[in-house]
Amino acid sequence: MPDFEKQNGNDEVWDMILNTGHPLLIKKQRRFGILPSPPRCKLCLAPFNGIGGWFLRRLDIKVSNRNPRFCNACDTFLRTYPGGTNVTLSMMFVDIRNSVPLSEKLGPKAFHDVVAGLRDAALRAMAKTDGSVLEYHGDAVIGVWPPGIAGENHAAKAIAAAEELVAHHPKSISSDDEVPIGISVHTDTVYMGTIASTTCDLQEISAFGYGVNLAARLADKAEAGKALVSESALQAAHRAMDEQHRCTVTLKGIDQPVNALALG
Ligand SMILES: [Zn+2]
Repeated sequence: MPDFEKQNGNDEVWDMILNTGHPLLIKKQRRFGILPSPPRCKLCLAPFNGIGGWFLRRLDIKVSNRNPRFCNACDTFLRTYPGGTNVTLSMMFVDIRNSVPLSEKLGPKAFHDVVAGLRDAALRAMAKTDGSVLEYHGDAVIGVWPPGIAGENHAAKAIAAAEELVAHHPKSISSDDEVPIGISVHTDTVYMGTIASTTCDLQEISAFGYGVNLAARLADKAEAGKALVSESALQAAHRAMDEQHRCTVTLKGIDQPVNALALG
């Protein structure tokens, strides 16, 4: 495998990837994104399963054996070019309402199947709208739409993903039980970049800033089966507030009340 010299000061590369779009990465995402099947590399969308995964393995593109959310090529890239940039992007938080009593009621296996159903549905909604998984957080999924990857209309796409989840409630993978989820969509400027994971040798991509916390808190306020779309996401999507469905919520740790549109 070609090993790059470890570089520092890679913010320009990250600015290109997340803000304006890196031509090589976009090409790869277009090519890989249509091949079956998930799970996929978080960066280039190379599929690891199905016929697409088999085909790419023949070309030596496969799940990294040290950083399994990425392919071997992207893992090498993250190690070689650690860095990040400020980016105004859209985010979606999806999490299970009352997960503690629910897990107690269902038992571990059935609760696992509920979380798996949520992940499947969230991934499908993101795949249709050019969203990327930022993190799985226990029973929550965090998706991001950076303009360099999702395009200028990132906010409209993130809202479309939330609308899809509201219209087609996720179900457990082993039963017809609907998964009670709350969703938020928010647009803000965050710092997105690589960060050392559990061992210092592993690099993950994550997002940091007040806007990330706001989006997480906003999802907590959404009722089961509903989404709250912040006013800033609506504005970025050039959508008017529907006064009938406007709500103003006070969020823990956030100074100002937040105006949001309730979907569902
Ligand atoms: Zn990759």
